[in-house]
Amino acid sequence: MSGHTDMVLVDEKGMRIDGRTAEQHRPIKIEAGVLNNADGSAYVEIGKNKVLAAVYGPRECHPRHLQDPTKAIVQCKYNMQAFSVSDRKRPGPDRRSIEISKIISEALEKVVLTELYPRASIDVYIEILQANAGTRCAGLTAASVALADAGIPMRDIVPAIAAGKADGHVLLDLNKEEDNFGQADVPIAIVPSTDEIVLLQMDGNMTREEFDHAIEMAVGACHEVYDLQKDALKRRYSKVQKEVSGDEQ
Ligand code: ADP
Repeated sequence: MSGHTDMVLVDEKGMRIDGRTAEQHRPIKIEAGVLNNADGSAYVEIGKNKVLAAVYGPRECHPRHLQDPTKAIVQCKYNMQAFSVSDRKRPGPDRRSIEISKIISEALEKVVLTELYPRASIDVYIEILQANAGTRCAGLTAASVALADAGIPMRDIVPAIAAGKADGHVLLDLNKEEDNFGQADVPIAIVPSTDEIVLLQMDGNMTREEFDHAIEMAVGACHEVYDLQKDALKRRYSKVQKEVSGDEQ
């Protein structure tokens, strides 16, 4: 988020470097139930981002001192693989991944019915296989599908997407160049049934009007992501249903 570049990110016709208009998100693909061992899993692509989420639990909470006698905790581990970016990245946890794990756990705790499982932990693993800006949103989108796939009781599933500003334009779903050389990045996640915002961060600067416009665009796009999340779960369960009825014949 340098805000200083000679690179043209939005041309005079309002076209972005990857051919999108300001209000378009990148192509999105979501699949549920992609891993056999996990209780639930999902795979998400948003443009060039490739993200895998796996859920285990509810299960005994480790480390034990984190146990809450009144409810389960959601423990998310966001990890960006060393091969996920072309720059050299040190493998393992860093301040950024600890922060992202925390904000994703907090967003998911808003929808999971944690009070049903005192002392337990619901463990969510997010692996970024390929990164191109927007990985926390792709990770959270995948994690909520994986939680639903695991059969964890939830009030709703959480879609996430970022909006931001580059070359003076308010844009939906920034790509790597727009994120690096733009002026602001605002990832958000919502609970679609109520439009409650469960994740909101802001890196950079915008006017109040630009911020309102960014939020409005991102909330609208979250509803589109939500439809794709539900489609992925329906496809997964119609496949399971077919397998089960096939076995019975
Ligand atoms: P998000 O991926 O949620 O947008 P950031 O804004 O922190 O999170 O990162 C933007 C992008 O910058 C990432 O998606 C990734 O492409 C790149 N990036 C982040 N951290 C690193 C790193 N340590 N090394 C190389 N690239 C990175």
